[in-house]
Amino acid sequence: MSENWVTFSSWNPWHGCTKISPGCRYCYVYRQDEMYGSEVGSDICRKTANFDLPIKRRRDKSYKIPSGQLVSTCFTSDFLLEDADDWRPECWEMMRQRSDCLFYFFTKRINRLAHCLPDDWGEGYHNVMVGCTVENQAMADYRLPIFLDAPIRHKTIIVAPLIGSIDLSPYLVDSIEEVSVGGESGIYARPCHYDWVLDIRRQCVEHNIPFRFHQTGAKLVKDGRLYRIRRQYQLSQAHKANIDYLVGNYYAPETSEYRWEPSDYHD
Ligand code: SF4
Repeated sequence: MSENWVTFSSWNPWHGCTKISPGCRYCYVYRQDEMYGSEVGSDICRKTANFDLPIKRRRDKSYKIPSGQLVSTCFTSDFLLEDADDWRPECWEMMRQRSDCLFYFFTKRINRLAHCLPDDWGEGYHNVMVGCTVENQAMADYRLPIFLDAPIRHKTIIVAPLIGSIDLSPYLVDSIEEVSVGGESGIYARPCHYDWVLDIRRQCVEHNIPFRFHQTGAKLVKDGRLYRIRRQYQLSQAHKANIDYLVGNYYAPETSEYRWEPSDYHD
């Protein structure tokens, strides 16, 4: 993974998602919709007003998203969501057009990737990075074999929300550019055990794969004690743990930090 991608933009072409696995139970999209009093169900996927943001220009004709940005893509939905199948081809086209940016999306639907790819994808666009999200052993064992076989140039594993110990070692191969681990946020968050985090770190060190502890979650169990961590400290506390391994300046935007605005929507 390049360390040159140190600044990032956000692009949310659609919003809303359906829950598909245990990690979705307290999905931040649903929590934020509720917090903002959205009148549209969070499971209704709709295009946003920023659908074509990557090709939007300012008055001086420059792109709104500057060249060289890491673009956090589709983080209040899932980029491979079935409901968005009709819209995705335009997104691929915009990514192709903005080869000067790196687009990064996470997905719990890696099983749908083959169905969603554009004709000229080949072994993957050079400027698209995909994070396969897993939350427990069952989802790791289902999704990661598919992910490892998929034609993608830049692959990361996002372990979030971590809700159980996971043996990732069968999947820690050279094509994985980073493993990023985080606990769950929100008042109903399931506890994340620091031992689970350290165990994944150990596996990454053994396989020489970059590891990042990106956030603690709201409830962290350490040395048998439960710590409740307020939202604003979940990133910084993880950083303070100082257990990242081989990661550079690159900094992955953390999805639940994003605060969408109702004005982002098309009606
Ligand atoms: S956005 Fe992610 S966590 Fe939320 S329902 Fe969709 S797949 Fe699940």
